[in-house]
Amino acid sequence: MIEVSFYCTPEQAKDKSYIEQAVFSKLKRKDLPVLQFKWFKRSIDARKNNIRFLCTFHVFKENEVIPKNYQPEFQKKIPGQEVHIIGLGPAGIFAALKALQLGIKPIVYERGKSVRERRRDLAKLNKESIVNPNSNYCFGEGGAGTYSDGKLYTRSKKRGAVREVLETLVHFGAPEDILIDAHPHIGTNKLPQIISDMTQLIIDQGGEIHFEHTLTDVIVENGRVMQIEINNSKKIETSAVVLATGHSARDIYQLLFDRKIKIEAKPFALGVRVEHTQEFIDKIQYHGRSNDEYLPPASYRLVTQAMAKGVYSFCMCPGGIIAPCATNQEEVVTNGWSPSKRNNPYANSGIVVSIEPKDLENSSHPLCGLDFQKSVERRAWEAAGKSQKVPAQRLLDFMNHKKSKDFPRSSYQPGITSVEMDEVFPEFITSRLRKGFLDFNEKIPGFVTQDAVIHAPESRTSSPVLIPRNKENYAHVELENLYPCAEGAGYAGGIVSAAIDGMNCVLAIQENLFSKNI
Ligand SMILES: Cc1cc2nc3c(=O)[nH]c(=O)nc-3n(C[C@H](O)[C@H](O)[C@H](O)COP(=O)(O)OP(=O)(O)OC[C@H]3O[C@@H](n4cnc5c(N)ncnc54)[C@H](O)[C@@H]3O)c2cc1C
Repeated sequence: MIEVSFYCTPEQAKDKSYIEQAVFSKLKRKDLPVLQFKWFKRSIDARKNNIRFLCTFHVFKENEVIPKNYQPEFQKKIPGQEVHIIGLGPAGIFAALKALQLGIKPIVYERGKSVRERRRDLAKLNKESIVNPNSNYCFGEGGAGTYSDGKLYTRSKKRGAVREVLETLVHFGAPEDILIDAHPHIGTNKLPQIISDMTQLIIDQGGEIHFEHTLTDVIVENGRVMQIEINNSKKIETSAVVLATGHSARDIYQLLFDRKIKIEAKPFALGVRVEHTQEFIDKIQYHGRSNDEYLPPASYRLVTQAMAKGVYSFCMCPGGIIAPCATNQEEVVTNGWSPSKRNNPYANSGIVVSIEPKDLENSSHPLCGLDFQKSVERRAWEAAGKSQKVPAQRLLDFMNHKKSKDFPRSSYQPGITSVEMDEVFPEFITSRLRKGFLDFNEKIPGFVTQDAVIHAPESRTSSPVLIPRNKENYAHVELENLYPCAEGAGYAGGIVSAAIDGMNCVLAIQENLFSKNI
């Protein structure tokens, strides 16, 4: 296999005959019989006026074996080896698949509903402001990943594991482009089917999935979880538990605290979700070009320091929608999603400030961050009228400490209410947001405009609680068969890293608990 790379214009990158000719002209030995070439990587360089794509291909000679994409292979179940997985988000799904590959039976308990039933609860949330505490944008089949943007970039350096996650998603119907693009994404319209096909396969292969089953207690003896309690009634003996409940399962943090199982407060981030028009972001990022059939809707990534704290953009959604992500009736929370084509007229992104436990009241308490998060979400709910409407302010009005009189259209479906952000957040957040926005306006001139609207709060960026585990064997520091997993435990941020952590927890369970029994 030979790797060739070259730059070309966006138009050329979509022109098959140009690409073929460019690949062959790059080959030094023109006489080599070439069988086939495959896209390997594609990234866009829009720093200068002449926007370019960097294209990399793998070229295969005659008789050379072309590596096939991943095909899942499952082992026969090994009697007596089963794992209880709590939560069917990306971590729980990939943990269950990995278990099946190792011959371990996964038994999954998920508090929410299947994607199809969940969709009805999301419609009620968007149209009638009714929050089902067990079925919403965070809870249900596929977890917070199902109705997300499906961005699949990660800072994880584990390239093999990242590839395994992406190839698995392709196997279940995600477009092959996610293996090539530097910033791959799937889109909310495609994710639910991919997720339900994954769960169906887990069941077909002998795993169990129980929807509307909530973990409500753990019974601990001699440094082990002996039983788990489901729905406040059924008690089930267990040999291993993967706790993959995500960062919105506040009752789980409370349960661990009440049961005196070690948890710690950890840094997190909180702020607002800003919305511009996509046309505006395109024009700025693409030097005046917008709605260009050869260019994807533009995105941005911003980071700065303000008074010794990080301020940064989070989960930017080009062509996206701001979603109501509360998990309880008396709170409001924003996040964003976009469809695969990213063809909505809006561009939204979280702009958040890093927070450490020492910045908060009661800073030595493990739940101090959680309490702060809750208090902001509740204050926002009260300020915007006690429905799922969120506080909103034009960005320039926010910078000038003025209440907004009116708004351009917002993508946030339950609606917005004019509220000054200083009513929602303490001064140490708003002052840093203002400083951050000033800096971003230098990086992207015009970013701070009266036409942009900020929505509050963007509060569920990462878990404010750590469920500590041993570095070497992934088990909880006090309980040898409890595996705190992924985002809710503080060990992942995003779909791909959560999926990788789910797989790693099951590999660790096999190594620590089951390999000795074979
Ligand atoms: C709107 C939105 C957009 C997002 N966009 C992106 C994106 O583009 N890219 C990206 O990488 N990330 C995105 N994220 C974040 C991403 O979804 C999460 O990082 C990821 O889903 C975390 O995976 P997880 O498995 O650790 O937890 P989760 O996905 O949170 O799953 C946890 C599951 O556990 C269940 N659960 C909780 N408590 C219990 C209990 N007591 N008993 C039983 N089950 C329980 C929940 O119902 C849930 O299904 C987005 C999130 C949202 C909300």
